[in-house]
Amino acid sequence: MDPVLERYYALEEKARQYNPTLDANRLFSAFTYADNAHVQQRRKDGSPFVTHPLAVAEIVAEMGLDIDSIIAALLHDCIEDTQATHEEIAKFFGTPVAELVEGVTKLTRVQYTSKEEEQMENLRKMLMAMAKDIRVILIKIADRLHNMRTMNYQREQKQREKALETMQIYAPIAHRLGMQKMKWELEDLSLQYLDPVGYEEITKSLAQRSTVHEEFLEHIQNKIEARMREAKIKCQVFGRMKHVYSIYRKMHKQNIGIDQVYDLYAFRVIVDDISECYNVLGCIHDLFKPVLGRFKDYIGTPKPNMYQSLHTTVIGREGIPFEVQIRTWDMHHTAEYGIAAHWKYKRGLDGKLGTEENFEWVRKLLESQQDTDAEEFVRTLKVDMFADEVFVFTPQGDVINLPAGATPIDFAYNIHSAVGNHMTAAKVNNRIVPFDMPLQNGDIVEIVTSKSAHGPSRDWMKIAKSNEARNKIRQWLKKERREENIVHGKSSFESELRHAGISMSAITEETVLPQILKKVSFGSLEEMYAAIGYGGLTALKAVNRIRDELIRINRMRTEKIAAERMAQNNAAQQQNQPPRQLHSETGIAVEGMENCLVKFSRCCTPVRGDPVVGFITKGYGVSIHRTDCPNAALERRKPEELGRWVRVSWVEGDKMTYRTALEVASKDRDGLVMDIASVLAVAKIRVGSLSARSIGKSQAIVNVMIEVKDLEQLKGVMTKLHQISGVFSVKRMTG
Ligand code: MN
Repeated sequence: MDPVLERYYALEEKARQYNPTLDANRLFSAFTYADNAHVQQRRKDGSPFVTHPLAVAEIVAEMGLDIDSIIAALLHDCIEDTQATHEEIAKFFGTPVAELVEGVTKLTRVQYTSKEEEQMENLRKMLMAMAKDIRVILIKIADRLHNMRTMNYQREQKQREKALETMQIYAPIAHRLGMQKMKWELEDLSLQYLDPVGYEEITKSLAQRSTVHEEFLEHIQNKIEARMREAKIKCQVFGRMKHVYSIYRKMHKQNIGIDQVYDLYAFRVIVDDISECYNVLGCIHDLFKPVLGRFKDYIGTPKPNMYQSLHTTVIGREGIPFEVQIRTWDMHHTAEYGIAAHWKYKRGLDGKLGTEENFEWVRKLLESQQDTDAEEFVRTLKVDMFADEVFVFTPQGDVINLPAGATPIDFAYNIHSAVGNHMTAAKVNNRIVPFDMPLQNGDIVEIVTSKSAHGPSRDWMKIAKSNEARNKIRQWLKKERREENIVHGKSSFESELRHAGISMSAITEETVLPQILKKVSFGSLEEMYAAIGYGGLTALKAVNRIRDELIRINRMRTEKIAAERMAQNNAAQQQNQPPRQLHSETGIAVEGMENCLVKFSRCCTPVRGDPVVGFITKGYGVSIHRTDCPNAALERRKPEELGRWVRVSWVEGDKMTYRTALEVASKDRDGLVMDIASVLAVAKIRVGSLSARSIGKSQAIVNVMIEVKDLEQLKGVMTKLHQISGVFSVKRMTG
């Protein structure tokens, strides 16, 4: 049989092993589609190009991914290298496959240049974010693995480039996803090209002493196996040399030669269930001397990338230390294939794969580990996979990390505030775009600047998505547009103040203003207006703070008054005097205040006997209102003045009469005023003023200001006035 076809059948067999219901026709047509598409191409080693996608599909099947992923792996280079299109692939193999292929193609197109570590991390995140579907990343890793395996046919320059990219980008991603096996192979393959001499030194040394190593491995393995049989523990034991790159790293980190690297050997004991793991551990520690401080329980506390095992280092024959890892088969599979391993468990539950839900499931799995490291991992994955970030390139190939939805404005200010302030145009992938266009992962963004640029406008504040850009725009507006800011700020502050029902004079009062400015942290109102104008502070926030401060100031005043009253009462008690003041000139006692100035409000003209309340005015003492006066109504009391309303009561006093205003409504007739005047004269009531006016329809209103002793006398007078012919109402004036 044709060797290529043979490889295809091997793939089909591998897929069938874990997909009993495999649609072989669909898989085969994907293979022939790829074979036809790539028919003109050859690999560097001369073999038909389709051997590459076939090998990638094999790796994907080895990971245990679903059939769509295997098909996508077969087609992964079609869009990039051949006439095939997204639409055509979707038509033949379904939209999910087309999207996977599209995803891998996008990752392939990312231009890579080696940078410092921070840039690398951004680039890794960008790839993850671009992938959206985690399977895209897994297929891409498989693709890279096969390319690295066949890298010896490439030019030296290309070998080094790809090896560096693999070491800096793909191996760390494989590690993050818990795919240890892929990670190790990618690292060792990369090292081969990045430091051929160092690589050879290690492999040569290992090969020279291979008999010693093999003997040691075999000896220890036999010893462990014998002990396990004795303990009747069903398990498999594997011994191996540590992989080259981990030895290499150790040598460089500790600056030692290969002869001094002591833990070259690693053993694995794999069992069926967790409790057996701890039994095995007991046996191993009984058999060999454990190295203190080297035991790690990653079963109780899994690593962030889901890795689980018990690790211990023990001393074997001739004092040679070695590591033993103990784990179940499930854990083993997870350690080797990481996130990919979980496809196997998921399969069959609902058959739906590769959507966001499927990732949601991985997330839940990780969350269920309830471990802070795992949480951290979930958080990173969320950032990576759920794209609340966007990654774009500068024309120089630097990766810039911005919040999702970021615009060219955010990009420009991320580069430098001078770039943002002088921006006149923005290009994305070489095309001029509007400033508010959201950037996409992988976009190459270029900012056109000019010395004569107008600078940012206020609208940019709304367009920008990053705090950084907004802050920088704010800074600029603050500096360059002060006059304008003050006008803008003042008008929005004043309108917000009106809305809150606070008068400007309540703020500008001499004793209050300094405290208010301190509260909002400004030296003057003008400074505050400027800040509101450039957006450093919202008018609403300023007004809220000021209102809180006014309430506080008034509460302090009331508290001060209350404290004074308490002190007075205490003093009075000490002198055996009655605590309450029972006499005052005006006949009014203000709670907590002695000898204060009292005046009777003109709006409601209270008389002795009326239920009353007091209001502490600014500089005119306490003004007394009737409790039914609209000006004293609870709903009309301003929040900032609540502390000024005080309780008052009637006490004995020198004042004999109180002025009060009445309004008499009557039929308009001759002699009305005369009759009213004579009723008042008969009752011996002093009249301050009396005026009458006709209001049409033969009706008249008479306003009188009289002086009465108390409420009782007033009521009597009102009854008498009501009895006058033609009068239909007698009312006290309020408000
Ligand atoms: Mn490829």
